[in-house]
Amino acid sequence: MGTSPPPATADWAVIGAGLTGLAAARRLAELHPDQTVLLLDARPVGWGSSGRNAGFVIDLPHKFDLDGGEPERMNRVVRLNTAAISDLDRLVAEHSIDCNWSKAGKLQAAIGETGMAAMKNFSRILDSINQPYKMLDRQAVADISGTRHYQGAIFTPGCILMNPARLVRGLAHSLPGNVVLLDGCPVLRHQRRGDGFELSIRRQGIPITIQVGGIIAGTSAYTPELGWMRRRIVPVATFASITRPLSDAHFRSFGGKLDWGLTPADIGGTTIRMTQDRRLFMRNQYDYVGTYAASDATLDRVRTSHRIALARRWPQLADIPFESTWGGVTALARNRVSYFGEMAPRVWSSNTDNGVGVARGTISGRLLAEMASGIESDLLDDMQAVSAMPVQNPPRPFVGIGVKARLRYEAWRSRKEI
Ligand SMILES: Cc1cc2nc3c(=O)[nH]c(=O)nc-3n(C[C@H](O)[C@H](O)[C@H](O)COP(=O)(O)OP(=O)(O)OC[C@H]3O[C@@H](n4cnc5c(N)ncnc54)[C@H](O)[C@@H]3O)c2cc1C
Repeated sequence: MGTSPPPATADWAVIGAGLTGLAAARRLAELHPDQTVLLLDARPVGWGSSGRNAGFVIDLPHKFDLDGGEPERMNRVVRLNTAAISDLDRLVAEHSIDCNWSKAGKLQAAIGETGMAAMKNFSRILDSINQPYKMLDRQAVADISGTRHYQGAIFTPGCILMNPARLVRGLAHSLPGNVVLLDGCPVLRHQRRGDGFELSIRRQGIPITIQVGGIIAGTSAYTPELGWMRRRIVPVATFASITRPLSDAHFRSFGGKLDWGLTPADIGGTTIRMTQDRRLFMRNQYDYVGTYAASDATLDRVRTSHRIALARRWPQLADIPFESTWGGVTALARNRVSYFGEMAPRVWSSNTDNGVGVARGTISGRLLAEMASGIESDLLDDMQAVSAMPVQNPPRPFVGIGVKARLRYEAWRSRKEI
């Protein structure tokens, strides 16, 4: 991927080839078939959080959207997420993207009192916006998941499960012909030149400059490195582990079904999947990562936490090795809002998706391209109505100390849900 020679000029530059950048580049190219769209990523496509997440394309309000939201706001969130799902659904079918795309729905499950309270709150919200769901008791959850660890769950049918790395690579391979994708090319600097910008990038160690007309930044947590949204984004990593495929004997002793996904009703809990190829996937733990990287010690601690979570649910599988444990960086706002808009003249961006950006990033990318092209729509109104400016954070190291303390408190509060 990214073998084309870099052009000297381009009408548009999209920085970041995650789900936001991919959707933005595709839409710009569709809207301006005679123009060149340059899509740049510092790393190979699929290496960012978009390619290494848990693979839930979530339709319903999630995490911070659940706190004190009015039904009108929730309905806007549902419309945006549903539009993202239908865009991806169409692209997966049109380009035969082999990413285990599955209309499996999702369980939102609770273990203890904190989780049960969060689950009840979720059911009230679903009632208020007339979304269908089914309450499952302990046995019904066990019939699917093979564990009686959960008191209950809410099943909602609209969530998609997929393999994120394959989806992202498939989207990158099927971009329109007027998109020039250069991955492994960090953008180092940008300077205003006339009506546009001069971008300084590095390609195979060689510095290059490119003149571009407008910029869409799909750079998520890294945006402040380019001088935008300084001190407004909190980079937080979350972590996942995946087992090797279970053998026939292990799968029988597991006792559940294939191809389901479960998110914790309480956000501090553990996300779990059983994949189509019989792998168990676990995600939990958050850590402030001021330098966008987690230490080996953190990864060891996380692996242990995932092992404990697995053993609590399926003691008979406690020794199944994890094939991989990894982290990815997401962008949080202290006031829990997501940003969308023109953050500087001719620079558009969406940001701080608060760790649930598969649907949000996809629809944001498309709408940023439309906004930059002067196209108005009801969906754009929805997006603007549910977006806001993240508050400024204290300078380093104070922001790190504060966020780490908050994350530790949240982890303690949710300890029974892990
Ligand atoms: C373990 C894990 C599990 C998750 N599970 C889910 C889930 O199930 N569902 C869900 O909705 N969300 C989930 N998320 C969050 C989700 O992955 C992110 O919200 C989403 O991927 C954000 O997409 P994005 O395109 O905005 O940003 P990113 O995927 O972070 O992409 C930003 C890209 O910009 C590039 N970049 C940055 N700076 C530069 C530069 N200067 N020059 C060039 N390129 C640059 C980066 O290399 C990167 O590829 C999870 C995250 C993690 C880590």
